[in-house]
This record gives sequence, C-alpha cells and structure tokens, in this order.
Amino acid sequence: MNKIILHKGKDKAAWQLHPWVFSGAIKTVEGSPENGEVVAVYNVDLEFVAYGVYSAVSRVAVRLLEWHPDRVIDEAWWRNRVQRAVKMRAHLLNDTNDTCRLIFAEADFLPGLIADKYADFISIQVHAAALERVKPWIIDELVSLLKPKGIYERSDIKSRTHEGLPDSNGLVYGEVPPEFVDVLENGIRYQINIVEGQKSGFYCDQRENRFLTAQYVKGKRVLDCFSYSGGFTLNAFQAGAASVCSVDSSALAIDTLKRNIAVNGYDAAKSTAVQSDVNKYLRQLGEEGEKFDLIVLDPPKYAPSRSSLDKASRAYKDLNRRGLMLLESGGLLATFSCSGAMDIDTFKQVVAWAALDAGKEIQYIRQFHQPEDHPVRASFPEGEYLKGLLVRVV
Ligand code: SAH
Repeated sequence: MNKIILHKGKDKAAWQLHPWVFSGAIKTVEGSPENGEVVAVYNVDLEFVAYGVYSAVSRVAVRLLEWHPDRVIDEAWWRNRVQRAVKMRAHLLNDTNDTCRLIFAEADFLPGLIADKYADFISIQVHAAALERVKPWIIDELVSLLKPKGIYERSDIKSRTHEGLPDSNGLVYGEVPPEFVDVLENGIRYQINIVEGQKSGFYCDQRENRFLTAQYVKGKRVLDCFSYSGGFTLNAFQAGAASVCSVDSSALAIDTLKRNIAVNGYDAAKSTAVQSDVNKYLRQLGEEGEKFDLIVLDPPKYAPSRSSLDKASRAYKDLNRRGLMLLESGGLLATFSCSGAMDIDTFKQVVAWAALDAGKEIQYIRQFHQPEDHPVRASFPEGEYLKGLLVRVV
C-alpha cells in the first residue's frame, strides 16, 4: 500500500480522529497513489496513524477512514459503514415520517457521501473521488437494506470540481423517480422533485425545527421567509395558523409550495405565496405597515467560509433587523443560520445587534439544532452547521 508521511507536528489532528489531512501537512508521498486509492498515513517518526483515501487534486489530500492498523478497507468495510448509518436512523422512519438523511458524510464515517431517503426513493451525492470508486457497493448495500424503487444521483455540486470530478446526475438503480415523489414528514405530505429540486430535493434537516416552531402559531399570522417548498408554512397550517405568507425567490419553490398546500387540503385562502427577494419584500411590508405574530427566517448559507464571516454577519444582521421590525410586541422570530462558519454564540450576538438596531428588546426562548440524522461527530466539529434561535420581542 502507498504511504503518506506527515510533517512533524502535523499528525496531531489525525491522532485526535479528525478525518482530514490537508495537502500542506504531507511531507512525502511514497509510491504514486491514484485519485481515491486507499493509503496508509504515518507520522514523521514512521508510526502508523490511520488509513485513508487519497486525492491528488483536493485541498483535503487524505480523508481518514480507519485508525486500527489491523483492519482492512475492503468491500465489507464500506458495506458495514452503510449498515451502521442506516440502522441508527431506523426509529426515525414510521407512519408519519418516511423521509430522512441516511448518510451524512464525515459524521457517518463515509466522507464525501450524502444519501437521503424520500419515501421509496433515495437521492445520493458523491463529493469525493474515493467514494466514486466504491459507489457500486454503497448502492448495492442501500438496495439490500431499504429496497427502494429507485436511487438517483444528484452530484452536481461545486465541491466535485475541487476533487477533479465531473458532474454526475442520473439514475443509478431501479426506476427514475416521478416528477413529484409524495413523501411524509411530521404527518404532512410534500411533493418532492428529486431530479430538479434544490440540493437533493428537500431540506430534511429542518424537520424538528418546523414542528417546534409550529407549536407557537395557533390562530396567529405567520410570515415564512425563504419558504422553499413550504416546510415551515405547512407545519404552521397543520398547527392552526390563521394565515401564512410565504416568500421565496424561486418560482419552482413557490409552485411546489402551492401544490403542497393543496395536497394537504389546507385552506388556500389563508395562504399568500410570493415570489420575491426576501429583503426587498420585508422592506415593502415595512412600508405598508404590515405586522406579524411569528416570522421565520431560514436563509441560504451566507458564510461559505470563515473568511466571509464578517460580511455574512452584516447580512444576517440586516435580515434579522428587518424581520424584528415587522413583529408586534410579544411576537416571535424563528431565525436560522446554516453557515457552518458561524457558531451559535456569534449568531446570538448578531441577532442581539439586529434587535438593538431595530429598537427592540428581545429574549431568547429556545435554541434550534440540526436533527439526529445529521449527527455531529466529536472529532469533526465542522459537521455542525444548522443552528437557530426562537426570539421573543418583549
Ligand atoms: N425553509 C425552507 C428551506 C430554505 S432553503 C424549508 O423549510 O424547506 C433557502 C431558500 O431560500 C431557497 O428556497 C432559495 O430559493 C431561497 N432564497 C435564496 N435567496 C433568496 C432571496 N434573496 N430571497 C428569497 N429567497 C431566497
């Protein structure tokens, strides 16, 4: 097996079970490992550290997989990782829920692989060259564990170019998913477009937060910003909201949201679905003197990296200030950040800063997290990305 030898001191993170070795940490590459091939990593004193998979192209040159020197990374090893991940989620799938993340990359010890279950279909994304090589085993294992009707790959993600991989979209097993796959989450029906929708078609990471937020909306006027296909909107109707105004810049998202309201039989007269830029629309609502009882702000990732954190903080602040201005006293703001670079303390500060600017006194009454099908591995804190706050205007 080809060997990777690390520079002095660069083995520390790897000993602490962190799964990434950056190219700058490598002193020598012995042999000529191919993209995605298994390599053995040693420290400068030639002590074995771990096995991993090599990438000649990526900034993450080795993704570490196994710290036990006697274990072999073979077909059975990969299949076992898939089995473990799927087994841990079994209790999430029941009569009211047939949708969840099955595999969450590094957090499930399968770096670069995402798999989501949507009723009888599975959507997968592959970000790493090594996974490309073992994909047939992974697909076969998913088929034998879950018996899906079809598995569809949506690997049209920027990170693949960093790995020297071309886009790869298409059917990898069974039937092509219909244009709309009917799924159930929190007992609510959604029509999901696996082939054309954003990400893998749905944001199942907000499942619990949608449900928790809806506990506060009975008889209330709700504004759901960045609604996508209606995750927060539908949970609000289910919980008896008086009205929900949903805003998203994507026409496809708004169309899907309207269809989802219809398939669940909610009263369309209580829904306003607006295709608009959220900031622009919030400004307009402010000028019109509109007020709401509960506002959801679930924007896309504003801080893709640490270096963009300052700029992103200002964007989060402006957005939250606009939201807070539209709340009545006693009103609630459910505000989220899915930027991994922004931790919960920074996010709290940003929201506090927004409240000061808005001239509002606020209380934090709840914190939101990513759900258990998006676990955070202790040795990989980078996997923690979704956080939120439920804020009351005093
Ligand atoms: N709350 C959603 C997920 C939101 S994902 C749910 O529960 O499923 C972020 C959404 O923001 C996407 O649907 C995207 O189309 C939308 N978006 C991105 N930038 C926007 C902008 N400036 N104004 C309005 N919507 C925007």
